[in-house]
Amino acid sequence: MFNEYRKYITATDLQEFWYCPRFIYYMYVTRIRQYEEKRFKVQIGREVHKAKALEKEYLRKSLGVIKQEKEVYLSDDNLGICGIIDEVLHLEDGSMTILEYKYAENKHKFRTQFYQAVYYSILVDSNYKTNINSCYFVYSRSGTKPFKYEIKPKHKEFVKDCINEFKKIYYEGYYPKRTKYLRQCLDCTYNKICDKY
Ligand code: SF4
Repeated sequence: MFNEYRKYITATDLQEFWYCPRFIYYMYVTRIRQYEEKRFKVQIGREVHKAKALEKEYLRKSLGVIKQEKEVYLSDDNLGICGIIDEVLHLEDGSMTILEYKYAENKHKFRTQFYQAVYYSILVDSNYKTNINSCYFVYSRSGTKPFKYEIKPKHKEFVKDCINEFKKIYYEGYYPKRTKYLRQCLDCTYNKICDKY
């Protein structure tokens, strides 16, 4: 059952964790807020683009889809996670998959986008009692063609490990390792207070 007092981890939380685990520490343990306005404006533009893509009504028959559900909110009480999936697809062979709209193809962000889809697949697995092994991305700036990516058990294990580490930081105040990519510190709000070395 949904517990309003418990922190449910979202895909955005994990995106920030993947940016840098220590960022989560500053955000939730020290409770020093970051300056988000600039990023928020970019986000609004992307959300409008995504909403337009989701408006279109068509069943993806070429993928063998027999039923599609849009903007599906799911949660998992055991893992303490929740999220809204752009499309949950039921296929004619009885399996299921998910489809996510992305603003644009971006090689640098692909890893994060892929693991976000893996995160959603975990939510679908537990809510629909299935075992998703693929996901699709549609890059909404370049048409409607879906691109398929394989999801392996090791990808789901990786995401579950990240969820557990996120909880360790959030609930136990664990001080995690910093990002491997020090260039990210240049854009980080916590740059001046973080002990990066
Ligand atoms: S300054 Fe660098 S190491 Fe510190 S929280 Fe930001 S990104 Fe992570």
